[in-house]
Amino acid sequence: MGAAVTSRSSRDVRTKRALITGISGQDGSYLAEVLLEKGRDVHGMVRKLGPEFPARLAHLRDRIALHQGDLANASSMEELISRVEPDEIYHLAAETSVSACMEFPEAAWQITGLGPERVFDAVRKHAPGARIFHASSSEVFGEPKETPQSETTPFHPRNDYGRAKAYAHRMAHHYRERHRLFIGVGILFNHESPRRGARFLTRKVSHSVAKIALGQDRELHLGDLHARRDWGYAGDFARAMPLILEADAPEDFVIGTGMAHSVEDFVRAAFNHVGLDWHDYVVIDRELMRPQESGIVQADPSKAKTVLDWEPSISFEELAAMMVEAEMTSLRGGRSAQSNVA
Ligand code: NAP
Repeated sequence: MGAAVTSRSSRDVRTKRALITGISGQDGSYLAEVLLEKGRDVHGMVRKLGPEFPARLAHLRDRIALHQGDLANASSMEELISRVEPDEIYHLAAETSVSACMEFPEAAWQITGLGPERVFDAVRKHAPGARIFHASSSEVFGEPKETPQSETTPFHPRNDYGRAKAYAHRMAHHYRERHRLFIGVGILFNHESPRRGARFLTRKVSHSVAKIALGQDRELHLGDLHARRDWGYAGDFARAMPLILEADAPEDFVIGTGMAHSVEDFVRAAFNHVGLDWHDYVVIDRELMRPQESGIVQADPSKAKTVLDWEPSISFEELAAMMVEAEMTSLRGGRSAQSNVA
């Protein structure tokens, strides 16, 4: 596993060095691919450096360098930034599950709320010329004050994850204004892929549909089918991140598809892909119902389209089909180009 770093003076001045926190996560793996394609020297921070490469990065093992670091520890962040000397930092690492944040609010606050501040401060001290991408979330809008949500929609977070992300977002503005750091913020709406963590709803659905299609299961138990979200493809979102750092000025950008779909829509699309009627397999389980926290979450991505020329390339139906297809390949014991499923 590579962790060697050449000094800034000895490396090719044209090769930009990018450091990704959360590189082992869903977005980190797609972003690493995007940045390698752009010719970046890609480095990533992982909590534990072991003999095994993280599953989502196995296909990139000879092309990226990994370093140990923990967001909970300010000195770890300082040591990492001063050693790697990045030109760009993509700050993706966080506790990303809303329910895990509800269960362990203090830990979530330490990582998702205060973690970004540790990154910004380490950059201020050790790499003030570097550009930072910060991954914010549509959960800052919580119960939205307006629909669709844009860069000017007021924050109204409704859960611990949203509150932590709102604080980090404000810290990004503070470091941008007070310390003149270039911090571009992506207000990311939901995005999924075959590499989404197994605990998330779309993975639960795609995994279960694939098992049913292969005759390995008979039912899919779900809670509320009416919740609506703006769901995009993670690979498209990763494409937006470097564009945000290539912009003339550090700004906020809503990244989403602009279309809201219900859980039922996703379930229908996934079953349609394998030629089955979802009504025959879905069991509504009241125990799985969560209190509704948010209103209609729907992005207004017009600024990203105008300023960054960014648009999603994968439709909602294509996303559901891609996820089911990858699960079927994996259940049959194979690997798809989209796999590395955790
Ligand atoms: P993910 O798959 O859950 O990945 C999270 C990453 O954070 C993992 O690499 C994880 O490392 C790392 N991490 C967690 N705690 C850490 C710590 N204490 N120190 C260092 N690393 C730590 O999340 P994702 O879907 O790629 O999301 C990327 C970013 O976008 C996150 O900031 C998320 O909040 C934001 N976002 C995502 C969505 C979405 O729909 N996916 C929507 C809005 C915003 P391990 O592998 O060691 O666990």
